[in-house]
Amino acid sequence: MSHVAPNFRQASREAVLNAQVIAAVRKTADLLTEKRALAVADTPDFEALRDYGRVRKLEISGDLEKYAQLFTAHAEAAGAFVYRAKDAAAVARLAIKIAADNSAKTAVKGKSMTAEEVELNEALAAAGITITETDLGEFIIQLANEKPSHIMAPAIHRNRAQVAELFTEKLGTPPDLGTEALVAAARKYLRAKFLTADMGITGGNFVIADTGSLVLVSNEGNIRMAATLPRIMLAVVGIDKMITAVADLPNFLALLTRSAAGQTISSYVSTITGPRRDGEEEGPEQLHIILLDNGRSRIASGPYREILHCLHCGACISHCPVYRAVGGHAYEATYPGPMGSVLSPLISGLTVYADLPNACTLCGRCAEVCPIRVPLPDYLRGLRSDVNKPPLTMKVAAWGAGNPLLYRLGMTAMRRLLQKGSSGLMRPLLKEWLVCREAPEPQAGESFRAWWKTRIQVPRSDGK
Ligand code: SF4
Repeated sequence: MSHVAPNFRQASREAVLNAQVIAAVRKTADLLTEKRALAVADTPDFEALRDYGRVRKLEISGDLEKYAQLFTAHAEAAGAFVYRAKDAAAVARLAIKIAADNSAKTAVKGKSMTAEEVELNEALAAAGITITETDLGEFIIQLANEKPSHIMAPAIHRNRAQVAELFTEKLGTPPDLGTEALVAAARKYLRAKFLTADMGITGGNFVIADTGSLVLVSNEGNIRMAATLPRIMLAVVGIDKMITAVADLPNFLALLTRSAAGQTISSYVSTITGPRRDGEEEGPEQLHIILLDNGRSRIASGPYREILHCLHCGACISHCPVYRAVGGHAYEATYPGPMGSVLSPLISGLTVYADLPNACTLCGRCAEVCPIRVPLPDYLRGLRSDVNKPPLTMKVAAWGAGNPLLYRLGMTAMRRLLQKGSSGLMRPLLKEWLVCREAPEPQAGESFRAWWKTRIQVPRSDGK
């Protein structure tokens, strides 16, 4: 993740004016949210599944280290090489060494937000390794030299015409191709890369502690090819992707695929346990798995632990009214939307992403749709308090508001001040408040409290 402090306020002001981006984002987000609603309505036990998933994830986030060690023991017993990386620099060092040890110069890559988080492409490119993204959305943004704008649909901000123009410029395809022809052009280009790449790189949707397996979910088949065809395979996975047992996998898949794209199951689910064995025709000769921490152990021991339960389904993002108004790039972070507004500051620091907890209306839509019940609005409120330590004036106001006598005196004084046309005096105190709100002068006449005392008393139904 970049540590250059982003400016969401400025970026979002510009983003809302980009009608093409907003239209493209809403079109795909609408499709994803409609499909999710249908899939969830078709799953009678979905609420129970959500509870189950949360309980199982609480078990893991309560002892990440134990499950990471269990996973490592089982994966190594199956023939994989497992490494622990504490941060982005450690991932880069390990990945470059694995490539160098195997004389790997080219790599095909499946979509991985974890790799985006540690800027793996940039690190490998600097070491002379050519990486080709093979997920169609990632391939598009790689050609356009952009970052993903949605964790599930990285090129959500681009429409067909723009992709056609990009393919003509970069791949030499005829102008204004339709969607099917564009997919065929990408497939043809990528197939040659798959067949010649030295290394396959993926993330991981789940890693299973009791079997040492890596689980990869995709709809395009590209991740399975990246994990099968090249002789060396490298997976970079956050330790938070752990599940305890293979028996849990069907439930977690049900939660993930319904929430992500409204599917009962994705087109491809690969469960990889160790490299190719003697006599097997498919699979890499070597399987390397890097378990990334990058602050996750710290987060697990703090008040925002459940963000580590996130399945990266993207549902909260597609449903978020702020995301739908500004798109993903305005967040200037690897992870946009509600989950990103919690995760990005926790990983990189609140001073870097101070704006993001405020990029929220607290409408609660994200919590309604989160398959794993991450309490996103509560976390966003908590992070706001962490960022915006209340100024002295607000502390004094809070103290006064808690004392009925002081509250009455304060309100009377405030009312008089404002009624006397002295609101100018108050403005410096209310500077931040007035950025996006008004403080109209009170109307002449009696106060609300005075009126309340004189109102007609209507007896309550219970006679009190
Ligand atoms: S926080 Fe919940 S809804 Fe958002 S991406 Fe993660 S699992 Fe999906």
